[in-house]
Amino acid sequence: MSGARGKLVVISGPSGAGKTSVCRALKQHPEVEFSVSATTRCRRDDERDGVDYHFLSRDDFQRRLSENQFLEWATYNGNLYGTPRWPMDAALARGKTFLVEIEVKGTRQLRERGIEGLYVFIAPPSIAELRRRLVNRGSNDLVEIDQRVRIAEEELAAARETVAGRRLYDVTIENIDLDQTIRAVKEMLWP
Ligand code: 5GP
Repeated sequence: MSGARGKLVVISGPSGAGKTSVCRALKQHPEVEFSVSATTRCRRDDERDGVDYHFLSRDDFQRRLSENQFLEWATYNGNLYGTPRWPMDAALARGKTFLVEIEVKGTRQLRERGIEGLYVFIAPPSIAELRRRLVNRGSNDLVEIDQRVRIAEEELAAARETVAGRRLYDVTIENIDLDQTIRAVKEMLWP
């Protein structure tokens, strides 16, 4: 095997802040591999099983959890989400940049375990703008949008935390303009 070990990049932030769009752009880079999370939430019409997520029953998720198959996992709005462990190890061993898109509780677990990487928090310009984006996206009904906004408020507070003597996130980017945000993340990864 040749070359240095790769780099983990954690992209986190509230639902609707734009992190999926940022990740979509980063995935185009030949050096990047990315995590496909497991989730118990229902598949949306525009999502593909095995591509956007591994959609699992709760029993299946729990079984994998008990087998220690997840690098981190969290409950988000009543559903379980987890990062399968082995794809990251395999990608980093091959010198790849490995992209993980997760919420704040999962990010804390990675930091607590001292997993090295670049931890990026994508923030919305405001809660009002976040709500507007969630409504425009049309993926969630109004009840769920309210729940996601409430979680977002907690996540924005958590973004300033310190975990195990380190800041939870290395950098916070306010996503005002998507192209600029993508450029900023790319410059951090490939200066
Ligand atoms: P959504 O339902 O909008 O796809 O995702 C809800 C939240 O769960 C988002 O903040 C998303 O980044 C996060 N998420 C997706 N996959 C994982 C995962 O594997 N682990 C954790 N901790 N969060 C995840």
